[in-house]
Amino acid sequence: VNDQITAHFFEHEFCESEVAARLGRPIIPDSAQSANIARLCLTVLEPIRMQLGRPMIITSGYRPPWLNAAVGGADDSAHLDGRAADVKVVGMTPATFARWIQMRKFPVDQVIEEFGQWVHIAIADGRPRGEFLVASMAGGRKSYSPMV
Ligand SMILES: [Zn+2]
Repeated sequence: VNDQITAHFFEHEFCESEVAARLGRPIIPDSAQSANIARLCLTVLEPIRMQLGRPMIITSGYRPPWLNAAVGGADDSAHLDGRAADVKVVGMTPATFARWIQMRKFPVDQVIEEFGQWVHIAIADGRPRGEFLVASMAGGRKSYSPMV
């Protein structure tokens, strides 16, 4: 199956998960979720990839509800309908990558630098908010602050 979406992204990259593999469950997006994954690539991820000129690794993409629950995702997570990806960039820290995105004009809904580990990039279901946040753990709880 050729599931290539853009020059650098394939749908299967958004449907792979170590947790799902361990649970022995496949991740199969429906047509609406596939369309969102494609829109995420076309409008945001591929333009970022082209300007950045570095490999981007998708560590989490589309999540069915059982997977989102298993990884502790928010109930209203954009991952649930294929509008978000968690991304690592080879040779760049998540903080630097998030700031690099912030300084440019990509039509993102939300970018979150999460725990210094990866960058969550989401597109909108409507008008993009262009929100930039940093997530950290405090006292066993997630907290979010604006990226400055
Ligand atoms: Zn995420």
